[in-house]
Amino acid sequence: MPHTPHDIFQRSTAPVTIDADKCIADKGCTVCVDVCPLDLLAIDVAKGSAYMKFDECWYCMPCEKDCPTGAVKVEIPYLLR
Ligand code: SF4
Ligand code: SF4
Repeated sequence: MPHTPHDIFQRSTAPVTIDADKCIADKGCTVCVDVCPLDLLAIDVAKGSAYMKFDECWYCMPCEKDCPTGAVKVEIPYLLR
């Protein structure tokens, strides 16, 4: 794919990823969903794990910090580091 100036604003993956193998939403955990101030995360009941429902992240980090199993990974964009 040719590189355009717009590439810098595009992401191939969501900024917040949840490791479904570590996530214990199937045991009733909703910590990351509860702490996100923007309500971006949700539980996929069928899969028994959390996922990013809306891609509007503020990179405030409590979802990653408060997850009891370390399943949440927030990818802070290069431009905000
Ligand atoms: S970093 Fe903040 S805004 Fe982004 S998903 Fe986590 S809690 Fe929500
Ligand atoms: S806080 Fe962690 S274990 Fe709990 S639902 Fe979210 S990703 Fe899953």
